[in-house]
Amino acid sequence: MDLLTIGAFAKASGLSPKALRLYDELGLLRPARVDPYTGYRYYAVAQLDRARLVAWLRRLGMPLAEIRAVSTLDGADAAREVRAYWARVEAETAVRRDLAAFLVSELTESTEAPGEGPTMLELRCAAHSDRGHVRPANQDTVYAGRRLLAVADGFGPAGAPASEAAVEALRFLDEEDGPRPGNVLNLLADAVRGASDAVRDATEGDGEAGTTLTALLWTGSGLALAHIGDSRAYLLRGGGLFRITHDHSVVQSLLDEGRLTPAEAESHPQRSLLLKVLGAGPDPDLRLHEALPGDRYLLCSDGLTGVVPDDRIRGLLAAAPDPETAVRSLVDAANTAGGPDNVSCAVGDVG
Ligand code: MG
Repeated sequence: MDLLTIGAFAKASGLSPKALRLYDELGLLRPARVDPYTGYRYYAVAQLDRARLVAWLRRLGMPLAEIRAVSTLDGADAAREVRAYWARVEAETAVRRDLAAFLVSELTESTEAPGEGPTMLELRCAAHSDRGHVRPANQDTVYAGRRLLAVADGFGPAGAPASEAAVEALRFLDEEDGPRPGNVLNLLADAVRGASDAVRDATEGDGEAGTTLTALLWTGSGLALAHIGDSRAYLLRGGGLFRITHDHSVVQSLLDEGRLTPAEAESHPQRSLLLKVLGAGPDPDLRLHEALPGDRYLLCSDGLTGVVPDDRIRGLLAAAPDPETAVRSLVDAANTAGGPDNVSCAVGDVG
């Protein structure tokens, strides 16, 4: 085996000897031989490709444990892992970007003089929930009030108390005069923390039970969103339907990472497996959504989206003259499609 000194190997790979010593210490690239007397490191020419790959992966910011795994794979497998890693980075960055925008808006509003804010709009809401045709009980909880819309989809033996507790813990948001400008983020974060505690109490620590939560709080000019799990929020604007939440599900992450096609995802056996749920630790996504007159918002449990395609949801939402009709026709559509799950919808119109 042709061995190069660390200096020669550094020159050939374009990496510094310091970087190579670091990779050795981190276990990312061991020298082919270490002289037992002098401690000098020697590398094989065949290690050049791996050294360069490790350098690129570090430049991408990949965690060391992942670099260790990826750098031993062949080209196609390594490519798949890099693609999946980057999809995760983008998903996490999107959540942080939304939170940063929320914070910017809050800090701006808190320094604005009264009366400078945008014109007040109003929200009109309706909600409807149904057991469906198959499940023995309804474990969904849905709420639509003056300024709050919420959907929670409970699962496990204490699923119903869990979803009820989550929504109940948010209801005070509807009874108040509305959030003070510049304080929506704190108010919503505190409310969600209260909901999370309430779910833990309701399930008495039963790890098999829990709930999703997707909630919109009307601020007078926009909607603050809290979201965890696979219930969804959609916006109907200008005739187009836009999903404004990202499912915290195993299947969604496989889709993001390019490991599943949308068609495969539709029939995936683990479609209902969740990555994040309320009460189990991770914080819900929080973001602020600017509203326009004419916007129609939909919150729904997976009992709707599991059986009614987005196209059909768009058509039914667009055709309904008011929120009451919209929620009824969406729930009917899920039941007509077999009603395999509890189904819940809440719709809010901005006027
Ligand atoms: Mg469900």
